[in-house]
Amino acid sequence: MKPAAFAYLAPRDLDEALDQLAEHGADARVLAGGQSLVRLMNARLASPAVVVDINRVAGLDALERHNGTLRLGATVRQRTSELSPDVAAHAPLLAEAGAHVAHAPVRSRGTVVGSVAFADPSAELPTALLALDGRVVVRSRSGERTVEADDFFTGPFTTSLAPGEMVVAVEVPVTTAGTGTAFVEVARRHGDLPVCGVAATVTRGDDGRVGATRIALCGAGERPVRARAAEDALTGSDGGTDAVAEAAARASEGLSPIADCHGSADFRRHLARVLTGRALRTAIDRAAGEANDV
Ligand SMILES: Cc1cc2nc3c(=O)[nH]c(=O)nc-3n(C[C@H](O)[C@H](O)[C@H](O)COP(=O)(O)OP(=O)(O)OC[C@H]3O[C@@H](n4cnc5c(N)ncnc54)[C@H](O)[C@@H]3O)c2cc1C
Repeated sequence: MKPAAFAYLAPRDLDEALDQLAEHGADARVLAGGQSLVRLMNARLASPAVVVDINRVAGLDALERHNGTLRLGATVRQRTSELSPDVAAHAPLLAEAGAHVAHAPVRSRGTVVGSVAFADPSAELPTALLALDGRVVVRSRSGERTVEADDFFTGPFTTSLAPGEMVVAVEVPVTTAGTGTAFVEVARRHGDLPVCGVAATVTRGDDGRVGATRIALCGAGERPVRARAAEDALTGSDGGTDAVAEAAARASEGLSPIADCHGSADFRRHLARVLTGRALRTAIDRAAGEANDV
């Protein structure tokens, strides 16, 4: 099928893009990599009157590190992030999760920010952003605001973005020495959206016990969700086999997974438990062995 008729705008700078988004409000959609939006438009599941293509906007393709924060601009491709030495060294969870997204040709066009803005509850990158305590930088003609990832995702394919706003970047604190991260998932085929996936970050305290822990799941609810009961169970423990098993057992507490042709809600709860155990074991091992420079 072909999309419904729409006006195509290709701003050259951010002010021009923000003016166009302000003018057209809820009738406009941002086009980044187009890997989800164009499919939706072709299927007539989305029919924006105006498409604002941000690919020519200068400066949005920057991937930078400043003062302990890694910032990925709105047109940084998923493949660029996956292969970036900076991301590998300072936010390895983003690279690990990103490698599970689709296949290389899709990742070569698709953007990290586009995946976050699309807010598919099964997607890997929003889940990694949540586990990394990331932030979403939002701009409109009236200014800039920064939204915690936890507050950005509001439901399936919905976010706290208002008409006239766009995401200009996502930011994550760099992963410091003594912190280990891991992403694991189960998908029917490599490159498919996961039935369930888990992103974990674990920091070892000076006393050798587990300090800060963040666990986020995809495919386990209507948005990427934190497994807070599991985080609480692991934090302060010795990080040994029993502690991980106890945390994993609590990973599905409070979850309301969807049920579809890829898996029942019970199967997804089972995966949440098993994958949380795997992700935590790997993250704990990495916390003990890895040193990530800030
Ligand atoms: C064959 C195939 C397999 C896939 N498999 C997976 C998978 O396994 N896992 C996965 O997570 N994804 C998967 N995807 C989706 C892919 O990751 C997309 O690239 C991603 O969801 C959207 O990124 P994009 O840059 O292409 O965004 P677009 O398609 O351009 O935009 C997607 C949505 O986000 C909005 N948007 C984009 N950028 C901004 C911005 N800066 N500000 C505000 N709104 C914005 C758009 O308006 C649109 O509503 C797959 C896609 C394909 C085609």
